[in-house]
This record gives sequence, C-alpha cells and structure tokens, in this order.
Amino acid sequence: MIIIMNPGASEEQITFVAEKLKKRGFGIHFSRGVERTVIGAIGDKSAIEIEALEVLPGVSEIVPIRKPYKLVSREFKKEDTVVKIGKKLSIGAKNPICVIAGPCSVESRKQINEIAQDVKKSGAAALRGGAFKPRTSPYSFQGLGVEGLKYLAEASRKTGLPVVTELMDPRELKPILKYADVIQIGARNIQNFPLLKEVGRVKKPVLLKRGSGSTIEELLMSAEYILSEGNRNVILCERGIRTYETYTRNTLDLNAVPVIKKLSHLPVVVDPSHGTGKWDLVEAMSAAAVACGADGLLIEVHNHPEEAFSDGSQSLRPDTFSNLMVRLKSIAQAVGRSL
Ligand code: PEP
Ligand code: MN
Repeated sequence: MIIIMNPGASEEQITFVAEKLKKRGFGIHFSRGVERTVIGAIGDKSAIEIEALEVLPGVSEIVPIRKPYKLVSREFKKEDTVVKIGKKLSIGAKNPICVIAGPCSVESRKQINEIAQDVKKSGAAALRGGAFKPRTSPYSFQGLGVEGLKYLAEASRKTGLPVVTELMDPRELKPILKYADVIQIGARNIQNFPLLKEVGRVKKPVLLKRGSGSTIEELLMSAEYILSEGNRNVILCERGIRTYETYTRNTLDLNAVPVIKKLSHLPVVVDPSHGTGKWDLVEAMSAAAVACGADGLLIEVHNHPEEAFSDGSQSLRPDTFSNLMVRLKSIAQAVGRSL
C-alpha cells in the first residue's frame, strides 16, 4: 500500500508513520515528490489496521496498490523518474532523448575507439558495446571480457561518452562497476533473479531489456526485483519480442512504450537494431520510437558491418547513423522533446 502524506507533513510525522510500519514488518520506500511525500509499505496488510494508520498526524490517504509490481508503478510514484548516467547525462521526463550507439561487440581497441569518435561526432549521448556476449552458439565469439571493458573505458575517456555494457554473470559485476556507467541486463537474463538482485544492491544505473518472450508485466516485475533491493536507477528497454512473423528478427512492440509510460514512472528506451535485425529498418523504427514517446534509443553502429563479429546485418554505418540523427532531431521537436 502507499501512504500519501499531507503536503505540509513534517519530517517527524513522516518518520513516525514509517517507523510504525517497519515495526510491523513492512519494507519502507520513500518517494519524495515536489508537493508531498509518499511512503510505500510492502508487506502483509493484515499486520496493521488501515484505520489506525489513517488517523496518524500528517497522513492524507492510504491507497492499496493492486498491481503485482509496486515500486515501479505510477501509483507509487506519479512523477517520471530521471536516471543520471555518469556525471552529465540524464534520461527520462523532459530530458533530451538519449541516443546510445556503438557496436554489438567490442572487437578491438581500434574498432571501439573509431566507432566512439564517429557516434560522438553525430551527437550520440552514450556509447554501447558488449564485452561479455550472450551468444546462442557456444562456438560464436563470446566477447573480449575485461580487456573489452578497458577499451570501452578508454574510448569513453577520449570522447566523454558514458558507457553501457552487458553483465551476464555476477562474478563480472566488479569490473563492470569499475569501467562502465550503465549495466545492461540482456533479454536472455530478464528472469535471472539472482542477477537482478545483485544489480539491485548497487547504485549504478541498470538498462533492463525485455525478454523476447516476456510480457510487459513480466518486464515490470523484473524491474521490481531491482528496485526492491534499493537501486532506483532503472531504464527499461523494448527490444522486440518473438511472434509468428519471421521477416524480421523480432517484432518491435512499440505499444510497449505508451503502455509502460502509463503503468510505470521509469524511463523507456527502444532498441530498433535487435527489434528488426535489419539495418535498413532501423531508421523508420527509430523515428517511430521517438514519435511514440521513447526517452532514448539503443542503436548498433559498426564501421565495417560486413566484418562485424556479431550483429553486422543490423548495424548502421557511421554515415547512415549520422543522417538518422539529423532526421530524429525534427521528430523529437515535433513531439516536444529535443535530442
Ligand atoms: C545486445 O544488446 O547486443 C544484446 C545481446 O541484446 P538483447 O539482450 O536484447 O538480445
Ligand atoms: Mn547485438
């Protein structure tokens, strides 16, 4: 349930209510809005009488949260969450649309540095690149590991772009925390609950990708795992789901953007590269994603897609990416955003 405090409620009153709930075994989470504080209390409702709470000084209203996800819900927090990435970048609410671009995999020091320079020049806000790769075949390129993270960090230093990279194994969390700015949890790990809990215990922003077989509710439940451990810095990512359509690699479910915006306060980014699997569809779907309210895009860019170690067929060349960025600016403007 959520306890909505009066606009003028004092700190003592807020603490009093929170302590009372804690004593009854509730987990307490605060949402401090501009006007009023909301206390989220998660636990067994029968442990306390609602009427006894309602009369406490400073309490305005008690509202049950009917959804299975609580902390990620709009009911718990009305205002859009803004996630800070690195020192300068913010995503969510009315912040500029955040374009995260780079190769599927970090392949070499030269490759990632060149691509980082290219995407920076075109106006990308952050750099992506996988150092630990989830591949369907164990014989495919598995990523450069920690060496790849070091190359990413170097490219980040040289361009000023913060870095997004995937974590697959909790044992790799430490180097990722050291070298990256955002932890990506990939589609295949959306229900790896121990991994979600692990990233919930750190402060670093998490980009959580929808699984190819996940419903929107399952995506939100996975986000709930992270928030319930204390990490509020979660960005959700629509990257396509598996349907009976085989022309594209996945079916990019852009419905998810306005649906998530309605159900949750968390920022949403769209990945048209994995969503389509085809580079020549990326432009149209990026434009559509911005038009329907996405807070950001995750786009694969490669300087030699034909030689890429992974996902070359869905990667844009730097010049195509640059043209796309120009087009996105006017679409962003048309929907009251900037890029
Ligand atoms: C990726 O971003 O390169 C990736 C593996 O994405 P997903 O987890 O969405 O398949
Ligand atoms: Mn990829």
